[in-house]
Amino acid sequence: MDKVECQSCKANVVPRLWRIEGNFFFDNSHEHSCPICGELMYTSGGKFHFRGIEMVFSAIASLFIGMIIGGIFFPGGVVGLILSVGLFLFRHQIKKIIMSKFQKI
Ligand SMILES: [Zn+2]
Repeated sequence: MDKVECQSCKANVVPRLWRIEGNFFFDNSHEHSCPICGELMYTSGGKFHFRGIEMVFSAIASLFIGMIIGGIFFPGGVVGLILSVGLFLFRHQIKKIIMSKFQKI
């Protein structure tokens, strides 16, 4: 790893990393601090990333597909709603199955 000059103590050091967990709005970030004087040298990562958008989008898509498929076979809405919830909960597994089908061709 490359050494960086610490602005505080002027020593050439390999920064010590401290991981900061991301949250609903930001990715994980790292604080790079000097191992000698402990001064925070710089931070990396932590880009803005609104995870909620994917969740909301998946929920709307699941509801849309579930209500259409459920509505065709079982008019009334209850089956469509159950199907929607099922699609939303198992969306990662469903995506994996669909992707594996396309990769075989
Ligand atoms: Zn330092």
